Amino acid sequence: MKTINLLIPCHNEEESAEALIHTLDDTIQGFDLYLKGEVQFHIVIVDDGSSDKTCQVMEQLIRGSSCLSGGSIISLSRNFGKEAAMLAGLRNCRADACIILDADLQDPPSLIPTMVEAWLEGYQVVNAVRHDRSSDGLIKRLSSEGFYSLFLKLSKLQVQFNASDFRLLDRDAVEAILGCEERVRFSKGFFAWIGYQQKNIYFKRPARSSGTTKWGSWKLWNYALDGIFNFSTAPLRIWSYLGVIVTSAAFVVGLSAVVRVLFYGIDVPGYASLFFAVTFLGGLQLIGIGVLGEYVGRSYLEAKRRPHYVIKTVTHT
Ligand code: UDP
Ligand code: MG
Repeated sequence: MKTINLLIPCHNEEESAEALIHTLDDTIQGFDLYLKGEVQFHIVIVDDGSSDKTCQVMEQLIRGSSCLSGGSIISLSRNFGKEAAMLAGLRNCRADACIILDADLQDPPSLIPTMVEAWLEGYQVVNAVRHDRSSDGLIKRLSSEGFYSLFLKLSKLQVQFNASDFRLLDRDAVEAILGCEERVRFSKGFFAWIGYQQKNIYFKRPARSSGTTKWGSWKLWNYALDGIFNFSTAPLRIWSYLGVIVTSAAFVVGLSAVVRVLFYGIDVPGYASLFFAVTFLGGLQLIGIGVLGEYVGRSYLEAKRRPHYVIKTVTHT
């Protein structure tokens, strides 16, 4: 018999808990491989510093389910963010495979049987990919497309466009991801970086079952920066090329000014061109220092080797 962990990071998901556990329960009870005793599921909830009763409600619901018990609820000491919560969960997954899914039913449990079947066929990673993003607003859609095409160009990794963290990972894939120990984490990059035989299954992402998203625009922007700076050094290298271009241009402009004054006696109009050169170059230098700062800051965070999260309690269900 194969075992599968259902890893669910939760932050203030008390309202979603009941619908989630009941839907998971129904899905598994109707899955023929479960009924034949070929696969067994164990749930791993990571309570990421919820201020509501997520932990207690989940525990009660899981204990009441015949097919989901035998897992654990890991409670973090505060809110460390979804990336840290996923890592805590992966480190505590002991099964042959692990399926990561959100608590709000936006990652439909009805896909679990298809994911498991693909895994049993031999795929080590099964990605749930959205058909389209028509449910998102225009700005979110455009910025997401822009980010992915930039990320693809800079990192050279085949990151799955329109895929969230909803996926099945084989034991080997879990171990490979656990080998990526960086503090600043961008799991979508890791999922592509580890390689392995991957399969995509497509679905339409429903709206949240209850509550609101924890990912505001500012958080998403910072997450996008983490992705780019963690998986590419191209933003650093650009400055060497830009430096060569700007210096060459300045040299040509300077030389032409000298020629015009010495050979033609034309006065070089000073104020406007000086003002432009100083502000333009000043701006460029500040951007360059900013990019350098992104890498220095990240190296500093890595050098401290602080733990990714702190576990308060582990409850076995
Ligand atoms: N989540 C978490 N820690 C956080 C924020 C979110 O564990 O700091 C969980 C959340 O409870 C949910 C999943 O991550 O299960 C996805 O969050 P959300 O639905 O807010 O993101 P969205 O679907 O809007 O991208
Ligand atoms: Mg959601």
